Amino acid sequence: MTTTDSASEPARRAPGARTLAELDERVSRCRACPRLVAWREEVGRTKRAAFADWDYWARPVPGFGPPDAALAVVGLAPAAHGGNRTGRMFTGDRSGDFLFAALHTVGLANQPTATHRDDGLALRGVRITAPVHCAPPANRPTPGERDTCRPWLERELRLLRPTLRAVVVLGAFGWQAALPALNAAGWAVPRPRPAFGHGVRITLEATDGGAPLRVFGCYHVSQRNTFTGRLTPAVLHDVLGAAAEAAGLLPPPAAPLTPAPEGG
Ligand code: SF4
Repeated sequence: MTTTDSASEPARRAPGARTLAELDERVSRCRACPRLVAWREEVGRTKRAAFADWDYWARPVPGFGPPDAALAVVGLAPAAHGGNRTGRMFTGDRSGDFLFAALHTVGLANQPTATHRDDGLALRGVRITAPVHCAPPANRPTPGERDTCRPWLERELRLLRPTLRAVVVLGAFGWQAALPALNAAGWAVPRPRPAFGHGVRITLEATDGGAPLRVFGCYHVSQRNTFTGRLTPAVLHDVLGAAAEAAGLLPPPAAPLTPAPEGG
């Protein structure tokens, strides 16, 4: 395959995936971004000392979660020694520890930890994915890499569309990548596009008259945000809880009881 052929691989191969399992398998073999392919494989060879006995995944990391998810969580990209090591989104790093603990508290994960692909973790109604599927140097994909990878995300969202009712987008990079992908997957995104912000909530109407989609902006679960207290467990819990409720995964909070009149 030539470099030009590789660059167009997502655009050529994503639309033909008929199921999420097929899409995940195709994603995991993608080599469209030369810089990211070189980096993910070099990290897999050189490793971090603490993980010297690991056989790094060192490939694109597909989305994780059931194919009939009602809620999607869209991040940024796998971490070099997290997802790029374990082969599963947010698995094996501090960001994932924070996210999965919150998902477990909300009732959307069967356990609070994620350490490796066979650790028994199961998500309820939630699919976790990213606009860039390969670990980037310094956690910074280029806009070109984001755009090259977009067809995988578009197809994933389109395949989820029959059941998807809400999306939590972690951080500004994910937001900028997710909105065009949501538009391509069948929801109308206003122009100009709504800006990212923590706490921003928008509703996108389906272009075919189907169910609308609720989209929630949230700070990314990166250590820069969680170590500084910008994003706390309670704040993330609130966002995930509201999104899960919008997706129909949790019942709405019970109305406060009206106190009985005194006397009588
Ligand atoms: S970032 Fe996406 S498009 Fe680029 S090589 Fe990885 S999977 Fe392929």
